[in-house]
Amino acid sequence: MLEIKNLHVKLEEEDKVILKGVDLSVEAGSVHAIMGPNGSGKSTLSYVLSGREGYEVTDGTATLEGEDLLDLEPEERAALGLFLAFQYPVEIPGVGNMTFLRTAVNAQRKARGQEELSATDFLKDIRAKAKDLKIDADMLKRPVNVGFSGGEKKRNEILQMAMLEPKMCILDETDSGLDVDAMKLVADGVNALRSEGRSFLVITHYQRLLDHIKPDVVHIMADGRIVKTGGPELALEVENNGYADILAEVA
Ligand code: ADP
Ligand code: MG
Ligand code: MG
Repeated sequence: MLEIKNLHVKLEEEDKVILKGVDLSVEAGSVHAIMGPNGSGKSTLSYVLSGREGYEVTDGTATLEGEDLLDLEPEERAALGLFLAFQYPVEIPGVGNMTFLRTAVNAQRKARGQEELSATDFLKDIRAKAKDLKIDADMLKRPVNVGFSGGEKKRNEILQMAMLEPKMCILDETDSGLDVDAMKLVADGVNALRSEGRSFLVITHYQRLLDHIKPDVVHIMADGRIVKTGGPELALEVENNGYADILAEVA
C-alpha cells in the first residue's frame, strides 16, 4: 500500500536535515505503529507524506499503490486515498459540518473521476456512519468544530476519515495530549474502519493507545530513521523500559 524508500527530508528554510533515510513498507489491510522519542521526525514524516509546505525531499521515494506521492499536490494525494487525520481541525464558523463534509467528499469524488453523490445518498451515508460512530445528529448541523469539545473534535475527525473512505490513513497522536477517553474514541474509530483494503499508520508515543488499537507491526523511529521494527511486543518493551535500551542496541 505505502512504500517509503530511503526518504531524506530537510527544512526548506534552513539547512536542517530531519529525515535521514526512512524505509517503511505498509501492506494493504495492516496497521503499523510508529513510536519514538520526541523530535525523532515522526510528525515530519506524516507532514511530508501529506504534502505540507516547508519541507524539501532531497532523496528517496514514497509511493501509494505504486503511484509516486511526492510530486503530487495534497488534494491529488487525498484523491489517491491518502488521509492524514487532523488535517481539518480548524473551526469554520458559519459552515455546517454536514455541508463541509459534503463538499469535501464531492471534491474528492471529482478528483477520482466519480460522480457527485446526490443529496439523498450523501445523507444516507453520513447518517449511517455517524450512527456507527455514535455521533449525535446534532453535531452534523453545527458549524465545523466550533465549540466542539476535545472528544467531539476527535469523533468528528474519525467521521471525516469514515466519509472520505481513504485507503491509507495516517494518524499522528503524538502531541495532541489525548486523555484516556479520547484515546478510546480514536481507537474505536480506527478499529471500526479497519478493513482488508485499508491500512493505518498510527504515530504515537503512548503505548496505551496501542492497547486499544492492536498494531500488526511496530516501528521505532530515532534521529530521522526507523531503527527497529517488530511486533506489538516492541511497544510493551518501550512501555516498560523506555527507549534507552533500544537506542543503545541499535547504536
Ligand atoms: P516528532 O514528531 O518525532 O516529535 P518532529 O517531526 O516534530 O518530531 O520534529 C523532528 C525535528 O525536526 C525536531 O528537532 C524539530 O524541532 C525539527 N523540526 C520539525 N519541523 C520544524 C520546523 N518547521 N522548523 C524547525 N524545526 C523543525
Ligand atoms: Mg514532537
Ligand atoms: Mg510529533
